[in-house]
Amino acid sequence: MISLRPATRPALIAALLAAAALPVAGHAAQAPSTDTLVDNVHGETIGADGQPEQVIGLLFDRSGVIRQVFHPGDKLPKKGFGYHIDGQGQVILPGLIDAHVHVMELGLAALTLDLSSTRTLAEALDAIRAYAAQHPDRTWITGRGWNQEQWGLKDGSGHSRYPTAAELDSVVGDRPVWLERVDGHAGWANSAALKAAGITAATKAPDGGAIDRRPDGTPAGVLVDAAMGLLTPRLPAPRAADRDAALAKAQSILFQRGVTAVADMGTSIEDWQAFRRAGDKNQLYVRIMAYAMGIDQMALIAGGEPTPWLYADRLRMGGVKLFMDGALGSRGAWLKAPYADAPNTRGLPRMTDTQLGNLMSRAAMDGFQVAVHAIGDAANAAVLSSIEDLSATYKGDRRWRVEHAQIVDPADIARFGRNGVIASMQPVHETSDRVMAEARLGPQRLAGAYAWQSIAKAGARLAFGSDAPVEAPDPFAGIAAAISREGPDGQPAGGWQPQEKVSPVQALAAYTTGGAYAGFAEGRFGRLAPGLRADFILVDTDPLTATADAIRHTRVRETWVGGGKVWPDDAENGAAKKDGNQKG
Ligand SMILES: [Zn+2]
Repeated sequence: MISLRPATRPALIAALLAAAALPVAGHAAQAPSTDTLVDNVHGETIGADGQPEQVIGLLFDRSGVIRQVFHPGDKLPKKGFGYHIDGQGQVILPGLIDAHVHVMELGLAALTLDLSSTRTLAEALDAIRAYAAQHPDRTWITGRGWNQEQWGLKDGSGHSRYPTAAELDSVVGDRPVWLERVDGHAGWANSAALKAAGITAATKAPDGGAIDRRPDGTPAGVLVDAAMGLLTPRLPAPRAADRDAALAKAQSILFQRGVTAVADMGTSIEDWQAFRRAGDKNQLYVRIMAYAMGIDQMALIAGGEPTPWLYADRLRMGGVKLFMDGALGSRGAWLKAPYADAPNTRGLPRMTDTQLGNLMSRAAMDGFQVAVHAIGDAANAAVLSSIEDLSATYKGDRRWRVEHAQIVDPADIARFGRNGVIASMQPVHETSDRVMAEARLGPQRLAGAYAWQSIAKAGARLAFGSDAPVEAPDPFAGIAAAISREGPDGQPAGGWQPQEKVSPVQALAAYTTGGAYAGFAEGRFGRLAPGLRADFILVDTDPLTATADAIRHTRVRETWVGGGKVWPDDAENGAAKKDGNQKG
């Protein structure tokens, strides 16, 4: 797919030889061009004006910066470039931006044992035994994804039962094992793990939790909900080497799906150090716009001001992530009125309005951007009020971000347009959670739920993302959900609250220019335009013209960051390395 033009290569070699020889003789040699031309592609980018521009070719220089973009009707150059990439008729798009991920969690989750495809307990036990054998260095074996219902696990009288510590002991007895259920609401421990956590017959389950017990009262192995907290503090923190492996894994997962830049929402010092180690070794390829996990981490990592862009625009800490409330599923989201399915509660704020204002002010004072998690309508209203208050003091281009903005009182939607608020939203949350959201909210409050189009019409900038690893970091699934409001099963036909669909152009913009703008990166990446980084992908489906279903099944053929191909990794795939046109 990537080859030097046959006619060009001998000429290039001759020029290189000449260039090598001539300086000795004191002549100023004409250096061979090291520009790269991409042609035989068609696709689009979102222009600075928000309108799509068609693209049929690209020229970038050796530093990975775009020099020229060719549009239909333009003549493509026949010479004047050193390298040539034949796009083989594929669709070219700018590298996509996921505006809300958790990079390290994504990689760490992918490196632990995944039991979600096991169909029986025996299959799971085999997988656990094999995984433990493959990882003799791990002091704990951790994983997730089991489901005793899927296994058809029954007790003597035919009732559904949990798996046991004894069953786990039969395959791993030498080390603690801790495996989370598919929904994250229970964990399965072996005897070594129960012992490490000091859980015995005498241990009482905390409020909101349960310990599965044998008839004699001793713990049987599974801890439910709040009781998981009896054990989880004992889990070893990932080592530096684990984090390095997780970062490499996360990058490859992102590149496979065409994502070249992300906002990391809640960066810790340990995360940051892993990003820096990778950058120092030239192994950081994805672009990370980092938002510190709270004010203390922000100050610890960046000091008194945002960091500069590092490693040729691959890493910057520009902001801080704060939490105003929790999530809708666990009724932790803070609502203005009680939950429809739990009338005794309306959730809880994580802090008072005053505390929020103080933290936002502390960050803004030092020039950091502020991103606040707000799911419920009361939380969204509180964050918008804080933004309105602070905008009087902190003027200029602040780009306040609301993360999720999931349930907004229609009366508050217009407030998103004021003060340049960015709505950082995750389209797939709507299709995954709509049934749960209907139960939590009842029919009266759905008008402001996942209200992408209303929020956009109010004048807010949309930035779309996945919240990976909560959902897969798949922007094509996101675009499909955004334009259809239908799930992968096509339900509900015509879309849920269909007035909130966005257009394909709006969706592509929210995954490119919107994500870049939301991270103060619009002058660096997010578009195919001269002077910006040559981040692009070649795919088989045009998201501006295809159906939602076709978009969901898009195949990413190649992913390039800064003029270097990062996926597929030919060496990793065992394919022959192509001639020297790969500039990592
Ligand atoms: Zn998140």
